[in-house]
Amino acid sequence: MKITAAVIRGMEKEDPFLIEELELDEPREHEVVVRIAGVGMCHTDLFSKISLGMLPMVLGHEGSGVVEKVGSAVTKVEPGDHVVMSFGYCGKCHNCLSSHPAFCMEFAIHNASGGREDGSFTLRTADEDVFGNFFAQSSFASHALAHEKTLVKVDKDVPIELLGPLGCGIQTGAGTVINALKARPGESIAIFGAGTVGLSAILAAVVCGCTKIVAVDILPERLELAKKLGATHLINSKEEDAVDVINKITTNVGVDYSIECTSNAIVARQAVDAVRILGTCALVGVTMLGDELTVDWSNVAAGRIVRGVYEGDSQPDIFIPQLIDLFKAGRFPFDKLISYRPLSEINESVEDTHSGKAVKVILKP
Ligand SMILES: [Zn+2]
Ligand SMILES: [Zn+2]
Repeated sequence: MKITAAVIRGMEKEDPFLIEELELDEPREHEVVVRIAGVGMCHTDLFSKISLGMLPMVLGHEGSGVVEKVGSAVTKVEPGDHVVMSFGYCGKCHNCLSSHPAFCMEFAIHNASGGREDGSFTLRTADEDVFGNFFAQSSFASHALAHEKTLVKVDKDVPIELLGPLGCGIQTGAGTVINALKARPGESIAIFGAGTVGLSAILAAVVCGCTKIVAVDILPERLELAKKLGATHLINSKEEDAVDVINKITTNVGVDYSIECTSNAIVARQAVDAVRILGTCALVGVTMLGDELTVDWSNVAAGRIVRGVYEGDSQPDIFIPQLIDLFKAGRFPFDKLISYRPLSEINESVEDTHSGKAVKVILKP
């Protein structure tokens, strides 16, 4: 079928997204065509644009919309259902089978190989194949093709165009606190970087009953937003040493948990240094293969835990409906992070995302 999509044809930061007409494959047995209602822009899109090296390509991995067409063997959804599109996974490896699909051993094949598992393309122009299937969707488009297992059916009483970021950025922040760290009432947490992931972590820390919620950032307006969402202490790390301040706040013990969301090695070091003995630092920022992190060996030897978390260690079919229930109950107001633009303004959205002017832009085709 004919669709409209934002295509990248160059890897430089300044190469624009181009709105083009493409041909999308018909759904195979277990595939589904989703009419996109909204798609969040995430730093992973912008990072992938300059690093994946597959051109031309359609990115976009926080899509939500309405099921339009289903393959012959699809049982999970039917036309008209509202769905959030989440990441791809094999469903068969050790980590998938033990309910950690975000740590699928074949994560790269299912999310960043540019096509289906068998190497086939799902998108093309009249004379060339186009890389797609980005995070099992490529949803910077009017329509996207997904495997049924990556779709999460959601209630129709919430605006469907709002929900796409639950499939990646928001479940990453909230899931790190709820699923991976399992924060409990009365505990303390420091969040380094108040973007979508960090602010979602703050919202989740409030849900978990954390009593000291420290937000660290360099943008005063982000710290203000963090405070509105429930941060109890704010640190502008341009002006103060975050580890010193956290030590003061916790009477020299350190926080129970810290989360690093900036992909900056100096900040990651601070996040490790800020946790108490037997506390856990979660590294969530996107990095390149080969990037190195230096830590004080004796700090880690003393029992501090440093771990990475992908996608909030979420099982999306379970976790995304829980986040929607919390939103409906007024306890997880993630809509405060969102601004909307039409898909045709995707290049303006890139600028707003890079500059920090927008927290989370949702593009509407
Ligand atoms: Zn797997
Ligand atoms: Zn993302």
